[in-house]
Amino acid sequence: MKADLHLHSNASDGAHSPAEVTEFCRRANVGVMSLTDHDTTAGLDEAAAAARLAGIRFLRGVEISSQWAGRSVHVVALGVPQANGQFEDFLAHVRALRLERSRRIGAKFAEIGIPGAWEGAVSEAGGPENLSRTHFALWLLHSGGVAHYEDAFERYLGAGGPCAVPRNWPQMEEVVSFIRACGAEPVLAHPGRYRLEVGWQEEALVDAFCGAGGRSIEVASGSQSEASGRRFAEIARRRGLYASVGSDWHSERSKRPMPGTVAQVPSDLTPVWSLFFEDSTQS
Ligand code: AMP
Ligand code: MN
Ligand code: MN
Ligand code: MN
Repeated sequence: MKADLHLHSNASDGAHSPAEVTEFCRRANVGVMSLTDHDTTAGLDEAAAAARLAGIRFLRGVEISSQWAGRSVHVVALGVPQANGQFEDFLAHVRALRLERSRRIGAKFAEIGIPGAWEGAVSEAGGPENLSRTHFALWLLHSGGVAHYEDAFERYLGAGGPCAVPRNWPQMEEVVSFIRACGAEPVLAHPGRYRLEVGWQEEALVDAFCGAGGRSIEVASGSQSEASGRRFAEIARRRGLYASVGSDWHSERSKRPMPGTVAQVPSDLTPVWSLFFEDSTQS
């Protein structure tokens, strides 16, 4: 069964509605999907309804911003509870951190002579509820501040850039144990993307993740190299972890693979969706 368990809609920084993202999955013959917007469950009901109509198995998901060893690390939660006040409060807190950070990013742009960035990002996002650096990048692109979307990260928003703001996300370990306490499954997202030293630093990240109760990692992601995917598949094999895969798709403008086109779980690993669907098989 083809899986795509990491996807974004316009509930966070994707370009399409949850129903449209689901339609992309249907066209790609995806059998099991999860919508995993940053720090919000707002798109899940719409995507779940569309998936039901399309005959696609659906896992309610979210991608939570966290930090570990001074780095931003993303934890996907699969099978998140519906209308759980404690869970929603946690996400609302992270979104409040986003709002605060976005104002500081806007102030940094103003300091270097680029006014109106915060308002621009809000207009790109359609509101201030879930602002991402993506929305600043889009505003720069559309207002002619950069020629290419990626330039916004390279010149302004990326780590060390003039408009980068230190992250204040909750600690990864706290996020992982909270997700498990809520009955959902934490998945270490695109572990090959954190600019860790191959070997001991990667092992240390997985140690910390597993020490907090994590047992699932992405072994293929549209936002990490195939080589790192193979390394983390080997780590999953050695440690007996569940394996997940996802395109991490946001929009046609990015170079990432389209929904349903990312590499699948190797046949000797146990797919994470077997935790949710008893009859699930690899093929
Ligand atoms: P945030 O979660 O607000 O820090 O924004 C991070 C988001 O920006 C990621 O989820 C990606 O969608 C996007 N992003 C980060 N770095 C880059 C990059 N170098 N090029 C393109 N998009 C990026
Ligand atoms: Mn994103
Ligand atoms: Mn991510
Ligand atoms: Mn993502």
